[in-house]
Amino acid sequence: MTDLPLPELGAAWRAARPRPAGVHLDSAACSRQSVKVLDAVAHHARHEAEVGGYQAEASAETLLQQGRSVLGGLVGMAAADVAFTESASSAVRVLFAAWPLPAGSRVGVLPGEYHGNLAAILYAGLVPEALPADDLGRVDVEALARLLRSDPPAAVHLTVVASHRAVVQPVVEVSRLCRATGVPLVLDVAQALGQVDCDVRADAVYGTSRKWLAGPRGVGFLVLRPAFRAGLVPVQGDPADVLSFETHDAHVAGRVGLTLAIGEHLAAGPAAVRARLAGVGRAVRERVDGVAGWRVVEPFGEPTAATTLVPPDGVDVAGTVARLRAEHGVVTTACLPARAPGELTGPVLRVSPHLDVTDADLETLAAAL
Ligand SMILES: *Cc1c(COP(=O)(O)O)cnc(C)c1O
Repeated sequence: MTDLPLPELGAAWRAARPRPAGVHLDSAACSRQSVKVLDAVAHHARHEAEVGGYQAEASAETLLQQGRSVLGGLVGMAAADVAFTESASSAVRVLFAAWPLPAGSRVGVLPGEYHGNLAAILYAGLVPEALPADDLGRVDVEALARLLRSDPPAAVHLTVVASHRAVVQPVVEVSRLCRATGVPLVLDVAQALGQVDCDVRADAVYGTSRKWLAGPRGVGFLVLRPAFRAGLVPVQGDPADVLSFETHDAHVAGRVGLTLAIGEHLAAGPAAVRARLAGVGRAVRERVDGVAGWRVVEPFGEPTAATTLVPPDGVDVAGTVARLRAEHGVVTTACLPARAPGELTGPVLRVSPHLDVTDADLETLAAAL
């Protein structure tokens, strides 16, 4: 993009990947993987066929340990705190299944909490309780401070960036308040890691590979601080050993791919990536707000790359997503209210380019809308 920071970052990201079949504006669902990541995953799978699955895993051990180390580092913890999971949803289920909170305990969540996280909390016999937030769904820090001091929930679960609205939560302030009041803090970084700094003190942090980190599908992670982990009860094994929170068998090739994808993220420079993705978000919002009556939800300067759009009266969002894809080759997502039942009152269109979006891509989107 002409006026975006770090154009070389966008060009390098694009050059590292297979050519897109159309205009891919769907990284919040699933980013395009690099050729190196795709090759590493295929290579590991092939190696399994050549030497045996467990032997191939053993030979990847040093690499996987590096993966745990850098992943832990991105969220302020260590390699020994990182469990690989199959997805963010599986991670949150493992966490709440292992957490012996008394039935009926209140867990603070935002009104816009993700449906799958709410389901995991409810399934564990816990009660999600809406934390104070402003009209955009951002935590009201002052009101949260009062709540945590006067009538604290058993835990706070914060989704740092939601999937239906790319607003960044004040995670540093929430972390500070939770520490000061002794309330355990869980962070869902599925939409945040790779575009927002998540190196914040929390007790548990989980997310997924395939979104902003651009790793393979079918891989997620659950990172657990040792003192907090000691109080958990895994289905099997010792909570001191973080591997007790992993499944015995796994898509090891996918973990190898995630490790490489994180390596590419670090090589590009997380701060530079964040700066450019923030610029991408601004560029999209400025370009499409008001086009054919579509209205941008996020503040233009919100430091995230995804944009959600409220349709003009009478326009069907799911139909628009299908039309964009079929007639213009533009890939986007329709977020239906069930995704965030406490906040979304109607469907929104989500547009989520990665580092490599071009002016031409945005012109195509605007024209198609
Ligand atoms: C995608 C997403 C999840 C679930 O991730 P999976 O890897 O699909 O299980 C959880 N939380 C948020 C905010 C998400 O965007």
